[in-house]
Amino acid sequence: MTTPSTTPDLRGHTAVVLHAHPDDEAIFTGITMRRLADAGARVVLVCATDGDLGEALIPLRPHETLAGRRLLELERAGDILGVDRLVLLGFRDSGLPGWPQNHHPMALMRQPVGTLSRRVAEIIEAEQAEMILHYDWRGIYRHPDHVAVHRIGRQAARLAGVTSYEATVDRTHLTRLGDNAHLVHAAARSTDVPFGLFPSEITVTLRATYAELSAKLAAIVTHASQVTGEAVAHATFPDAYRFEWYQRIGPPTVLETLTEEGIAVGSAQVRP
Ligand SMILES: [Zn+2]
Repeated sequence: MTTPSTTPDLRGHTAVVLHAHPDDEAIFTGITMRRLADAGARVVLVCATDGDLGEALIPLRPHETLAGRRLLELERAGDILGVDRLVLLGFRDSGLPGWPQNHHPMALMRQPVGTLSRRVAEIIEAEQAEMILHYDWRGIYRHPDHVAVHRIGRQAARLAGVTSYEATVDRTHLTRLGDNAHLVHAAARSTDVPFGLFPSEITVTLRATYAELSAKLAAIVTHASQVTGEAVAHATFPDAYRFEWYQRIGPPTVLETLTEEGIAVGSAQVRP
């Protein structure tokens, strides 16, 4: 492992990271959040739904709800990834396309984008953040809540006048690794769409150090109600998860002083 020779000092800088469900933050932006935090930046995680339609893979305690368990998991994962402040927008998981829960009045996909984007823009402004991380135009794999987060994040960035980094995955890279190398493969099968973007569409890529990939893995498996250890305990884990990819909308920010062009990092070789 190579450690960065000179890590930029990002104290005084803030990033808002907007996600749809507890666990998305670890799976799609865990390395980025950990790296920002390690550089001294303030990381504000905004989670739009409680993820209450996920299937519980472990028994819940008496009277415990899945949403309650997922909040605990989110808080623990946030600690691992260096989150300074967690904001819950309080909406319901909309479920997959065509599910009856799509029509619940509190489902995220039913909320007016204008209202929610103003709410997120107010968080950006109050925090004096200079960037927001959210999802690409497809919501990475077209989950209705992820598409909503894309629209809300894009408009909030415009209202607050900050750069948006739209998290995605490199479709070509992950396809080459096989059908189950990454959780996004199964997710995309559930919505029956191509996932992510092509390499030519990706503006910013971060590659994890060993420590960052270990933190990402720890954060992912902290979401034990959603992800089994077996789902990520495979030989391709490092190749599938050591990168995080973004399409930038707006001018570059200090985030890009943390990319491989900005600092030297070693290739990760973590094993689950
Ligand atoms: Zn999600």
